[in-house]
Amino acid sequence: MVSSETPHQTTQTIEESLNRIKNDIPQLSGIVDAFRDLLINGAIAQSELPIPQFVDEKVDRLRFSQGIPMLHERKIHVDRDAIMGVSELLIPSMKKGFPKLDVSLSKLESFLKENGAFLDELVPTMESIAIDEPEELARQLEIPTLELQFICYELTRPFAEKISERVSPLINELNWSKGYCPVCGSWPVISFWKGSEGRRFLNCSFCGQDWPYMRTQCPFCENNDNEKQEIIFSEDRNFEHAELCHECMKYVVGIDTRNMIAAPHPLAAPLGLIYLDVLAQDRGFQPGSTCAWNILEKTERSI
Ligand SMILES: [Zn+2]
Ligand SMILES: [Zn+2]
Repeated sequence: MVSSETPHQTTQTIEESLNRIKNDIPQLSGIVDAFRDLLINGAIAQSELPIPQFVDEKVDRLRFSQGIPMLHERKIHVDRDAIMGVSELLIPSMKKGFPKLDVSLSKLESFLKENGAFLDELVPTMESIAIDEPEELARQLEIPTLELQFICYELTRPFAEKISERVSPLINELNWSKGYCPVCGSWPVISFWKGSEGRRFLNCSFCGQDWPYMRTQCPFCENNDNEKQEIIFSEDRNFEHAELCHECMKYVVGIDTRNMIAAPHPLAAPLGLIYLDVLAQDRGFQPGSTCAWNILEKTERSI
């Protein structure tokens, strides 16, 4: 979330971004509608969460300058009421958007109500996968692992966004030269080219933090050989692209926002770029981040 926005403005930006995608690419209406409630209620859930307790702590500048994300190995206490509040908002949104996940969602919902210990494990892990050892819990609940990952990813995302929003001012002035998130260490889900010079900003797949990163370097393997990088796009939408790296065979999708009146919301924007995911993956490239869409896509394939 852009920290200067009010919750109402954020939900409005998400809504407008989704409507624009549907309008521009009607073939994506189904996936946009599936995610709509989840994204909007996720932003509402985030705005209602209590402020994380550690935000007044000082940044360890030395560790940070060595490329260690701010939340590395930190445990964050999140109380039961908070996670229950988020679940009450987001589980119905997921049931509505993704009816195929109904059984798994109901099982996890019951488990959440009964098992407090699980909540401690769920929240503090600042990874895109959202929980440690999902296989074990998936087996216990008899839920497919990918479905559990998708659900937990979405339930924990508002906490990660809240933390990112609060710590952002502490690190914004510091240099960060890595391709992974300076706050939580996750990989970027989208790249935005901004400003008159088209400076590249990467946006975290999990906590939503953005940070500037060299246009000429792959965020995933730090390859900066021009010959091994490629931009692909569709002629009629040349402000959208996928940035491919032939060294590590990973890619990130991106938008050149320079001629736009308003940039799309980073949570909504990747949905409008799915056609580029298809193009890149058809050519043998893998997405650099484990984001909800990627997990869901694998889930769909495994059903
Ligand atoms: Zn992050
Ligand atoms: Zn690479």
